[in-house]
Amino acid sequence: MNILLLGAPGAGKGTQAELLQKKHGWTWLSTGDMLRRLAGQMTPEKAHIERLCAIMAEGRLIPDYLMVMLLEEELQRPCYEKGFILDGFPRTDTQVWQLEKMLSEKDKKLDAVILLTVDEKAVLARIEGRRSCPKCRAGYHLTTQPPKKKGVCDKCGTALMQREDDTAKTLTRRLEVFRIQTAPILPHYKRGDLLTEISGTRSVQQVFAEIEKALRAIKKKRKT
Ligand code: AMP
Repeated sequence: MNILLLGAPGAGKGTQAELLQKKHGWTWLSTGDMLRRLAGQMTPEKAHIERLCAIMAEGRLIPDYLMVMLLEEELQRPCYEKGFILDGFPRTDTQVWQLEKMLSEKDKKLDAVILLTVDEKAVLARIEGRRSCPKCRAGYHLTTQPPKKKGVCDKCGTALMQREDDTAKTLTRRLEVFRIQTAPILPHYKRGDLLTEISGTRSVQQVFAEIEKALRAIKKKRKT
């Protein structure tokens, strides 16, 4: 299946994408991770990437033309053929129709759009405690999902990192960007009867069970 996960920062998209990838073998494509990887490869010749880092650190959006170009290139990789979980794209109207164009050119479509809702007040605690492994992408939380050894990834032993934009100040901007630029894309997916809204405020496993239930219902509906 090709799944799109939507939700404000801190809604748990990455955590759920990781679980879906593990269970179903669909490839998790996070545009935020993709950009952070790109930023890590910065060389003096790629000084323009510095501008991208500044935009991300401020919690604003990277220009559409660039995101579309990067995503188009990424989606060429064969790993997405067996299904994908898109996390972080689309975030604007332009990205919505560009994604549709990209997929239809490959004779593909989205099978489900899952919106994870979350209380904005709860998001700050989630974001400030969030840590991740830069090598294998495993996600942790200092209080709700701590690693066995402080600061170290359980899976590969790499030192965990905190994202530069996971701060109270940047979060306010990111939530505002979600409300103003991304939330307006939701009616499009509602109209297409693709959108399932799931509360992301419960435990990771409860949210995962809800997503799985929704996906089973979609599969069943497709068969009838
Ligand atoms: P995320 O990891 O999804 O929270 O993304 C981190 C940051 O990467 C965002 O705050 C944006 O600056 C940038 N970014 C990720 N995906 C997109 C996108 N689809 N359009 C524009 N900017 C993006």
